[in-house]
Amino acid sequence: NVILEAKDIVKTYGYEDNKIYATNHIDLQIEEGSFVAIVGRSGSGKSTLLHILAGLVKPTKGEVYLEGKSLYEMNDHTLTRFRRRRMGFVFQFFNLISTQNVLENIVLPIHLDDGEIDDDYLNEIINLLGLEEKKNSFIYELSGGQQQRVALARALASKPAIIFADEPTGNLDAKSSKEVVDLLKIAQRKYHETVILVTHDQEIASIADRVITIEDGKIIQDTNHI
Ligand code: ADP
Ligand code: ADP
Repeated sequence: NVILEAKDIVKTYGYEDNKIYATNHIDLQIEEGSFVAIVGRSGSGKSTLLHILAGLVKPTKGEVYLEGKSLYEMNDHTLTRFRRRRMGFVFQFFNLISTQNVLENIVLPIHLDDGEIDDDYLNEIINLLGLEEKKNSFIYELSGGQQQRVALARALASKPAIIFADEPTGNLDAKSSKEVVDLLKIAQRKYHETVILVTHDQEIASIADRVITIEDGKIIQDTNHI
């Protein structure tokens, strides 16, 4: 089953002589429950593609469908709600709220959406991510690896259809990096999550079922590892 589909995605920046094709006619289908890594050098267009797939940046041309729904035909309000309900995000710089504790950060997207909190599930993911002892800690009391585990718990809390991870290990040491991608993999398996991971690190990418290589805004390689 295809969960995410991108059709002829073009994103340009600048005009005329200075025009850059950050993504240059990209077509993509992502299978439900798969773990996909998008790799490429700095400036190749990975982040732009991820942001377009996640409804964060409108493409110049083309359309993205998540669960059959066209993202860029939705109005901003509908898209924001759809993102909160169906997508989880993990970023390089964690994007946690430092003045709130771990638990408050994890349930924030559910609160923003007036959603119901499933306490059993919440405790399960907190345990899975090794955060049971940190529930009441403030974000600034945590290491980078712990902060990224909080971000991952937050991404999982709303039981999304898909998790987008943009260089989630970019700010972590080797040990924490391995821990975080292993946990992403466990989340994929346990909850049948679809995961899209952007990384410039080939070793990190090797955990994926499928590795898509981007160069100059184009897919130059697409390899299955299962
Ligand atoms: P990567 O994530 O692989 O490092 P990006 O998607 O960030 O690549 O960038 C792809 C290309 O688009 C680069 O040439 C970059 O300079 C350009 N670019 C990205 N975002 C912008 C922007 N907001 N304005 C202008 N150019 C941009
Ligand atoms: P970068 O990849 O450039 O280092 P981030 O991954 O932190 O930066 O953020 C990329 C883009 O996504 C930014 O333009 C930011 O405004 C947007 N963004 C970050 N967090 C969220 C969020 N929770 N909801 C919506 N947009 C976000």
